[in-house]
Amino acid sequence: MIYADNAATTRLDKAALEAMMPWLLEEYGNASQPYSFARKPRKALAEARAEIAECIGACPEEIFFTSGGTESDNWAIKRALGNGGRRFVITSQIEHHAVLNACAAVQRLGCPVSYLPVDGKGTVAPADLEKVLSDGCKLVSVMLANNEIGTIEPVKELARTAHEHGAMFHTDAVQAVGHIPVDVDDLGVDMLSASAHKFNGPKGVGFLYIRKGSPVGSFMDGGAQERRMRAGTENIASIVGMARALSQNIASMSRTESRLRAMEERLVLALDKAGIDYIRNGAEDHLPGNVSLSIKHVSGEMLLHRLDLKGICVSTGSACDSVETRVSHVIRAIGVPEDYAEGTIRITFGRDNDEEDAQTVADALLGILRPRTMGSLS
Ligand code: PLP
Repeated sequence: MIYADNAATTRLDKAALEAMMPWLLEEYGNASQPYSFARKPRKALAEARAEIAECIGACPEEIFFTSGGTESDNWAIKRALGNGGRRFVITSQIEHHAVLNACAAVQRLGCPVSYLPVDGKGTVAPADLEKVLSDGCKLVSVMLANNEIGTIEPVKELARTAHEHGAMFHTDAVQAVGHIPVDVDDLGVDMLSASAHKFNGPKGVGFLYIRKGSPVGSFMDGGAQERRMRAGTENIASIVGMARALSQNIASMSRTESRLRAMEERLVLALDKAGIDYIRNGAEDHLPGNVSLSIKHVSGEMLLHRLDLKGICVSTGSACDSVETRVSHVIRAIGVPEDYAEGTIRITFGRDNDEEDAQTVADALLGILRPRTMGSLS
C-alpha cells in the first residue's frame, strides 16, 4: 500500500509509541492524586508541556491539553466570546469544519460572523480583513495552512491587522504544526490549535495555546486539571507521545521538507509529460507534500476508488457533507472551473513516502487517465 493521505492522519512515530508505553502499563497513576505513585505522571505532564511550549516558542503555562484539533478550535471560538461586550467574529470561507461549525454555533447564539473570501490560490488578503474589521470585533480566526490545498496564510499580517482594531486572533494550525516552523510570538497570535495525529503523534490528543493574559474562558467544567480551564483526568501517555512526536518532526523538518518537495515535483512532472489537463490548486507558499489537483472531465471520487484498487490512499476535494454539491467549500471558494472541480484529488505525501512512491502514484493516475483521454476506460 502507498499511503498518500497524510493530511488526514499520519503514522504514529515509533519513538513516540515507546515513550507512551510506560504511562499505560506501569506508571498509570492519576497525575492529580497526592500520593507518590502520582509523582512521575505529574512530572511527565509538566515535561511534555514544557517540551511542546518550546517547540512553538510559548511558555508552558500557555499550553492547554485537549482531545485534538476539533476541541481546540471549539474552545478558542466559543470561549473567547464573553457575555456582553464585543460579539463580532471574523473567519475565512476555507476553514476546516471544526472552525466553520463552531462559528455557526456562536452565530446561532446571536454573535454576527463574517466569512472572508480568498483569492484563486486560497489566500486571505489582509486588506479584506481590514475592510470588515470594526470596533465590535472580538475574534478573528484564520487557519495557518489549509487542509485541502495546503495554502499557507499570511497569519502574521492578519493578526497584526486584527490587533490594530482591538480584536483577538486565533489560528487553526492543525496542518502546520510539526510541518513548517511555527512560533507564536513571531506570528503574534493569541490562540493556536494543534492536533497530535497530524504530526505522527497519537490520535485523540492535541493542545490549545492561549497567550498569557488573554480573556479566554474555561472549556470543560469539572475538576481542577489544566489550571481549571479544561477538566478531566489527563491522558498522560498520549500527551507524552505528542510531545515526543513533535520534537522528532521538528528535528528533521528541513530534511523532510526537501524530500517532500522532490516528491511533489516528481508527480507533477510525470503528469505534465503525459499532457494531462489539470489545475494545481493552492499557493506557491504551501505545505510540503501537498498536491491538490483538479483534473478536467473526470470524477475525483472515481479516481479515489480506482487508486484504492491499486493500493493507493488519497483523498478527494469533494466532501460528503452536502446533498446539493459534491465539490468542497474550499474548491468552490477558490473558484475552480466546473469542468475541473469535480475531478479534484488531494495527494499528501508524508515523511514515510519517497520519490518512488510519487512515481508509482503518477503511473497509477496515468494508467487511469490516459485510456480515458483516448475515449475508453482501462
Ligand atoms: N483543523 C484542520 C485544519 C484539520 O485539518 C483538522 C483535521 O482534519 C482539524 C482541524 C480537526 O482535528 P482533529 O482531527 O484532531 O479533531
